[in-house]
Amino acid sequence: MNTPDEIHNDVTARALTLHWAAGRTQRIAHSRLREACPCAFCKRIRLAGGVPTAAPGLTLTRIEPMGYGVQLAFSDGHERGIYPWSWLEALGQD
Ligand SMILES: [Zn+2]
Repeated sequence: MNTPDEIHNDVTARALTLHWAAGRTQRIAHSRLREACPCAFCKRIRLAGGVPTAAPGLTLTRIEPMGYGVQLAFSDGHERGIYPWSWLEALGQD
């Protein structure tokens, strides 16, 4: 399993930066992380044909290490999503 060497939450730019091995850097916007939230609640919205929407100015407020990934809490109060490293890596770049 790939695990980033370091993660950095840039609140000003509203982006999460993951530093992977060999100097590879991945940057993901907070809004996209929120809209891609993998929790059961957001999955149900997607299955119903909707999209979990990120409020304007939404930020990532807390990162809880979960071993195989991180639990992310957002400024809209949503904090159910657990984002595995491999899943984050597959999200690609903003
Ligand atoms: Zn969610």
